[in-house]
Amino acid sequence: MTSHPISQNQSLFDASQLRIPGGVNSPVRAFRSVGGTPLFFQKGSGAYVWDADGKRYTDYVGSWGPMIAGHCHPDVVKAVQDAAANGLGFGAPTASELEIAELLCKLLPSLEMVRLVSSGTEATMTAIRLARGFTNRSRIIKFEGCYHGHSDGLLVKAGSGALTFGQPSSSGVPAEIAALTTVLDYNDAAGLERAFAESGNEIAAVIVEPVAGNMNLITPKREFLDALRNLCTKYGAVLILDEVMTGFRVSLQGAQGYYGIKPDLVTLGKVMGGGLPAAAFGGRRDIMQCLAPLGSVYQAGTLSGNPVAVAAGMATLKLVQEPGFYENLSKLATRLTTGLTASAKKHGVEFCAQSVGGMFGLYFSRAVPTSYAEVMACDKEAFNRFFHAMLDAGVYLAPSAFEAGFVSSAHTEADIDETIAAADSIFSVWK
Ligand SMILES: *Cc1c(COP(=O)(O)O)cnc(C)c1O
Repeated sequence: MTSHPISQNQSLFDASQLRIPGGVNSPVRAFRSVGGTPLFFQKGSGAYVWDADGKRYTDYVGSWGPMIAGHCHPDVVKAVQDAAANGLGFGAPTASELEIAELLCKLLPSLEMVRLVSSGTEATMTAIRLARGFTNRSRIIKFEGCYHGHSDGLLVKAGSGALTFGQPSSSGVPAEIAALTTVLDYNDAAGLERAFAESGNEIAAVIVEPVAGNMNLITPKREFLDALRNLCTKYGAVLILDEVMTGFRVSLQGAQGYYGIKPDLVTLGKVMGGGLPAAAFGGRRDIMQCLAPLGSVYQAGTLSGNPVAVAAGMATLKLVQEPGFYENLSKLATRLTTGLTASAKKHGVEFCAQSVGGMFGLYFSRAVPTSYAEVMACDKEAFNRFFHAMLDAGVYLAPSAFEAGFVSSAHTEADIDETIAAADSIFSVWK
């Protein structure tokens, strides 16, 4: 056997850095958090991906969620090929847009109307504009550690002290825009209540990930979900559940069905595009009717409802509706988290894990975190060491301690058990 003197991943990354800032088209891909050279993928099939050196990995990222049926599911590939053969796009209505709109409204009862867009960022950005147009108010509330895409008003962190104005978390975001966003602690119902008591009549919307999946994985407390719904109703604010990640991921009815919480607006992406750029926002008819051309809130998109992207989404949504799909997915995720936890315990490694539907969180901490502060207190160096050891063993986890992981229906129990065995040999020589 010959080994490559220079990794193809490394030479591609070196060349990419000359032409693409940081060598990547989305920052987390650069491995800055875990260190080392990012993998350049050349293909995927089912639960596996292959890097530029031809090395195979079991994939727990799944393109950050969309690959819920595995890579290159034949039904999805066929649907995309058929759609492409009929035209890549028209910038005019097509029947398939109606079909997916009707399906989304059927699967998520909180949706009375939807509009298709091309990314989660577009969906959340517009949902907020719509909530502001509908309520005629300017302020919004978000929660520290929740990610809602990269529009200006959402790249905001908490100011010093509770209930202060938000501060930009990115250069280029005007302080005046960040100041319209209040940033609160996730799972802190009392904090939310105080914010509403202070300025409830100015708040257009609260946007929240119903399961937080962009600060590792944090599940919502019941009292937090109830406070969100009750306070938004009481003060006339729009409750936006950002289900870009959780939609068709934690259950067929998303987190809203899983936890039984009714939003006013919902944002979707990732799984609903099946790997291609399709996303959506939707909800109450009286709010959605404020959108142009019916109403005065403007939104548009050349590629919105693109027939090829819609075909990939429809084919994927067909697969997830098969009986037992989420039972199987949850079983696989639970098998992984319980197996990893048992192995860590056996070897005395401070580690825990949990899953919700087809998403999971791994934590180098004694107990499962329930807040942003607790996530931040996890041992990041331990995760980075684990990440690289697993990568060597052919397991691709998200390259950051602060991302959720994903299983697909293409993963088998044998795949999961192999992953647990890889972790077990790492944990057996830990420290
Ligand atoms: C991924 C994600 C987004 C952004 O979606 P993009 O398609 O990357 O723009 C928004 N909200 C949540 C909860 C996400 O996980």
